[in-house]
Amino acid sequence: MSPELQYNIFVVIIYVFIFLFGATVGSFLNVCIYRLPKEESLIKSNSHCMKCGTPILKRDLIPIVSWCLLRGKCRACGEPISPRYTVVESLNAIGWVLIALKIDPLSGRLLYTLLCCLVYSALIVVFFMDWDTQLISTPVCIFIAALAIPEMIFCYGRGGVVVKSHIIGLFAASVPLLLVFLISKGKAMGLGDVYLMAGAGFFLGTSRILVALMFGIVIGAIAGLILKRINGESVFAFGPWLSLGILIAMIWGFDIASWYMNFTGLAEIVYGEGAVMQLPNDPYFPQLD
Ligand SMILES: [Zn+2]
Repeated sequence: MSPELQYNIFVVIIYVFIFLFGATVGSFLNVCIYRLPKEESLIKSNSHCMKCGTPILKRDLIPIVSWCLLRGKCRACGEPISPRYTVVESLNAIGWVLIALKIDPLSGRLLYTLLCCLVYSALIVVFFMDWDTQLISTPVCIFIAALAIPEMIFCYGRGGVVVKSHIIGLFAASVPLLLVFLISKGKAMGLGDVYLMAGAGFFLGTSRILVALMFGIVIGAIAGLILKRINGESVFAFGPWLSLGILIAMIWGFDIASWYMNFTGLAEIVYGEGAVMQLPNDPYFPQLD
């Protein structure tokens, strides 16, 4: 076997592992989505059928696979089990693989890949929980913010120049949303949205959280119009759309911000004539030694 083939097999095994681990974590995300709003323990495991209450067997708890084998029905009572569980597990598994393919953990960005995968998982919880309950869990926002600490210490090399960007990022999108919250007396925006943008801003830094805010507002406005037409309701959760904005910004934020600065000529205004803004895609992720 040639060394090249061996390496390729190794890479495939790593990605299969990422998929399987992502599906398993996805299963835990389901627990978070259902128990966080009720403030139930996340650890004690007593999964049971929502309809008949029969405890679910260990062998029926395999992510994605079990639901497919049971054809979406409870083994005891035959009532349909929501496809949501499998959707969440699949979204997390596929998302982790795509994020890893984009960042490439095997080129010295292992920790950064892991941190982005964890942010993505937290965004899935925010998306579904806010959709169901109009609540954004504060611990989830704190979790996202906490991921910024290993990111700043280990992923950006030495010098700490980027720390400023992250501290400003904490306020850059959350303060405008806080003002909307205060002016609208909580009608247009919840405090959860403010905390979410604060936590995500601390992780993403200033340029990317502004990209996230812009996309969140645009997607939210479009989704709001569509949902109003379908349901006739004008009250809706903003968190899911902010989450999508944060996801877009986490993956493509630097590219979008650079493009925008150059396209509008802001780069020349800020950095002087002839300046082309190249946001630090590569310097941001030095090889870890
Ligand atoms: Zn049942």
